[in-house]
Amino acid sequence: MNDSLSPGAYREAGKALLRCSDPELRSEGIKNILYAYSKNDVEAIYLVGELLLCGFIKPIEGDPEEQAMKVLCRAARCGSLQARSLLNAYSNARYTANLDKHVSAQVRQGPLVDFDGTPVSISRKGLFTPVDAVLSYENGVNCLTLNVNVVFMYGDKSVFSDIGKFENAVLSGMKEWEGEYRVFNNQEIKVAVNVTTENRLFDNVYILPLYDDMKDLMGKIVNAVGTKEAKKRINPMIFDSRSFAAIGRKWSVHSRKFIFIKSDSSTFDDYEELKDVAKHEFGHALGLGDLYEDASDQLKGVEKGTYYELDGYYLSDKFYNLVMCDHHGPVSNNDIEMVLLAFRENKMQKYQPDKFKGSISSALGRGN
Ligand SMILES: [Zn+2]
Repeated sequence: MNDSLSPGAYREAGKALLRCSDPELRSEGIKNILYAYSKNDVEAIYLVGELLLCGFIKPIEGDPEEQAMKVLCRAARCGSLQARSLLNAYSNARYTANLDKHVSAQVRQGPLVDFDGTPVSISRKGLFTPVDAVLSYENGVNCLTLNVNVVFMYGDKSVFSDIGKFENAVLSGMKEWEGEYRVFNNQEIKVAVNVTTENRLFDNVYILPLYDDMKDLMGKIVNAVGTKEAKKRINPMIFDSRSFAAIGRKWSVHSRKFIFIKSDSSTFDDYEELKDVAKHEFGHALGLGDLYEDASDQLKGVEKGTYYELDGYYLSDKFYNLVMCDHHGPVSNNDIEMVLLAFRENKMQKYQPDKFKGSISSALGRGN
């Protein structure tokens, strides 16, 4: 290959050649794309994932589908929106196909019932309920309404390139939980998230952007809300600047809820990323545990095949295209089922046990 040409030029030439009918030209096209891939061209990484998925090229080793997912994840991590949307469409289609095998196609009408047929009733609101959750049934529609007042806590505001855009990114990440879902054997439910930013003294979800200036203040907050074990776990996160949610001594509808947000940019202007981080951390405020593997937190991760309704979203190596595993991933039916159970039972819903004991969510392994 000629090094004077950019990897992007090889990739574009490769794409053009792939459209030819002559097989020799097409294989030349693949060579060009692979060259651009070897030079870490992001679009070429995406294209290689797609070529693997379609069977145009074969991996040197391993399952072709899993290798394709790995490559597409890498492209998505490098910022390829094409890879992100292909991963979402692909895992969603697999999820739906998988579910059709297990769940009756008939959609149950009427007020929501759980797996055992017991009516689900949720009305969590009041002065010491940072996230209000109310389940209603009106005009034939089940609706879970989540109301939350957000208070941002800042140290030095001059760090931010645009504080309004930062706040919007965080709030829109929380709004991403809105949508139409199917829970407890295919019953339809609408989720509405109403976010306000009133200046209230109590009953808030607090957002704390994580930067050097704030570490002192954060340490104090963690010491005030956490148990000894939580402090041991959270203090290193503050120093590594990882995003996380502190949800009081133990999650409950009444526990205090703080979301600590880090940015890859020193001026907090990576808005797409911030939005997805807020989406994941808000999941913790809603009572969900993590799905990813994390040795430092003694989380073992979840193997493929453990819960069949998650398998559609499985990508590779205990990695799922789901919001509580990868903050870029979508919110699933199962996540909403777990939110409903968290608020009904006043108990955190976990995908996997951790050292702070606790059982697995009863939503898992039972379809959506
Ligand atoms: Zn998390």
